[in-house]
Amino acid sequence: MLKGKSVIVTGSTSGIGLGVARRFAAAGANVMLNGLGDAAEIEAIRQDIEVKHGVKVGYDGADIAKADQIHGLVQAATDLFGQVDILINNAGIQHTASIVEFPVAKWDLILAINLSGVFHGMQAVLPQMLARDWGRIINIASVHGLVASKNKAAYVAAKHGVVGLTKVAALETAKTGVTCNAICPGWVLTPLVEKQIQDRAKETGVSFEDASRRVLEEKQPSKQFVTPEQLGDLAVFLASDSAAQLTGQAIGMDGGWLAQ
Ligand code: NAD
Repeated sequence: MLKGKSVIVTGSTSGIGLGVARRFAAAGANVMLNGLGDAAEIEAIRQDIEVKHGVKVGYDGADIAKADQIHGLVQAATDLFGQVDILINNAGIQHTASIVEFPVAKWDLILAINLSGVFHGMQAVLPQMLARDWGRIINIASVHGLVASKNKAAYVAAKHGVVGLTKVAALETAKTGVTCNAICPGWVLTPLVEKQIQDRAKETGVSFEDASRRVLEEKQPSKQFVTPEQLGDLAVFLASDSAAQLTGQAIGMDGGWLAQ
């Protein structure tokens, strides 16, 4: 479906980003991976996707907290593939603490990666998308872009910001072939969430499995985790021509979390 298109997925060395990158490669798109991690492991992932799907796969280690490196990532993908058709702003981090105890450095870093990184990515990629009159920007926000939970001040603020920024980008590109949407996942069992569940298990003296069950019971009516592959398939749909008139939306995939 996306043969000949090129996509950048930020934060795609693990979790949701990696699942999304795999689904885009399966749909025929060339993929630029990005994210932190062990160089040999990342190279193995890169080769695996390339061989499995017969598409070009690159990697750039840009730090999404840094505007100049995001521009460098877009340039590297443009050099490798000729153009960037789809940008998936996915890189993100979490830190949980009450507002009173929230470390200022963590606030700054979460805002830099989870919110400013999305702005810089848009600014870097939009000129070429507008020049070709086709593009897709897909922001991996969160249910926390639409509702709050305690102890997640920076994350909730950043993700609400991403949903707002998505709407601005959609309006600014509305008369063009570019669309911009946000996907708002509920709980997905990735390293980012495993750490939160481990912390809860430790605090409450229960097993990881029991803590997982409890976090799902609190917020996610389906009581099942969303998977990176399910999110990848939604993103592939948003990148398709069928979604040409779908823009400015914050789409939940959350087992019913936002219906409550
Ligand atoms: P993860 O920790 O598995 O993956 C995060 C990715 O971002 C990794 O590839 C990591 O290397 C990369 N990354 C982190 N800091 C970076 C930086 N400075 N520069 C470049 N890359 C960096 O987490 P995940 O759960 O897959 O999260 C991915 C996105 O999905 C995040 O934006 C997160 O907020 C969002 N999200 C996750 C959940 C969930 O339940 N897991 C729910 C809603 C939204």
